[in-house]
Amino acid sequence: MKYIDEFQDPALAGRLLDEIRATVTRPWALMEVCGGQTHSIIRHGIDQLLPPEIELIHGPGCPVCVTPLEMIDKALEIASRPEVIFCSFGDMLRVPGTGRDLFQVRGQGGDVRVVYSPLDALRIAEQNPDREVVFFGIGFETTAPPNAMTVHQARKRNIRNFSLLVSHVRVPPAIDAIMRSPDCRVQGFLAAGHVCSVMGTAEYPELAQRHQVPIVVTGFEPLDILEGVRRTVLQLERGEHTVENAYQRAVTAEGNPAAQAMLGDVFEITDRAWRGIGVIPDSGWRLSERYRDHDAEHRFSVEGIDTREPAECRSGEVLQGLLKPNECEAFGTTCTPRSPLGATMVSSEGACAAYYLYRRLDAATPGQRPPAAASATPSPATASLEGSTLA
Ligand code: SF4
Repeated sequence: MKYIDEFQDPALAGRLLDEIRATVTRPWALMEVCGGQTHSIIRHGIDQLLPPEIELIHGPGCPVCVTPLEMIDKALEIASRPEVIFCSFGDMLRVPGTGRDLFQVRGQGGDVRVVYSPLDALRIAEQNPDREVVFFGIGFETTAPPNAMTVHQARKRNIRNFSLLVSHVRVPPAIDAIMRSPDCRVQGFLAAGHVCSVMGTAEYPELAQRHQVPIVVTGFEPLDILEGVRRTVLQLERGEHTVENAYQRAVTAEGNPAAQAMLGDVFEITDRAWRGIGVIPDSGWRLSERYRDHDAEHRFSVEGIDTREPAECRSGEVLQGLLKPNECEAFGTTCTPRSPLGATMVSSEGACAAYYLYRRLDAATPGQRPPAAASATPSPATASLEGSTLA
């Protein structure tokens, strides 16, 4: 398949791995800030194929995972109201709030519907003028533009019974917060290609300079990730810290100006809480004053809900790259995808779910580092991958 097979080519992957092995002379810790990249890395065993000097740390790049518990509780409160049709992408329905999730609200009689686009929710609002229709708008710079466009359309078409529960976050302030943490071990970043396809790369040079850290815009297929790693390691070995674009088939320096204009029209930048991390200044969006009528938090008066996260879930440490998922005591025991304690085990892009799906059998016991960090010897799981994908 065009643009898929080429970027999973085993011979090219082998050449990139050889170049990385020839370049690296000492340990380096790189972070990917994208759940799609995390899943690709774990699924294809890329971290296990890299030389042992290179550690990949999985950052807060999964939109479901970083949505704070208090926002889930606000969604549960709104969805429980009899006048509300609550619309969401499917992956939010099983994210546990305090005591229950959206599936359980539906089981208890709430009108919770899975949609595939925010415009589906707008259509439901048009068809049900006597009901309040709310869309759960979560995610990074990638999902924010279509949600902004939907609110813009609602206002233009005078669809007053549509509102957005907004939990949108921005990647650059998160990178800044990670680098400012006293526990930070990250020395280079693989920036999320899809985010940069919308926002361009203008926000990154200042970050690279301030923290003396290379940032390489990277795609999602195995060759994309290996090329991102290769370029980042090359910069680190040379003592450089610049921004490079290794995903030029999708990303330009200016990004998507139409999407940025829509974001600027509908949203304004605000402080946002990130699950397990806390409030990061200027790290998110909220609806601007002229669209406040479509703000579900305001309309349903749930701004005051403020929930503490359960202590047993260590997803905050996972999201900051301080802990590997299978180092959590609950991993695979009291916390599984069927019975998740935290969002990182629920979401299809969550690091805990990725380790459970692809790496569970490698972890002898919870609380141990995975073989990727401990040894360069391929595990049986990797050996099978080598035979199929990246041999
Ligand atoms: S394994 Fe479960 S309890 Fe542990 S950090 Fe991940 S989601 Fe939280």
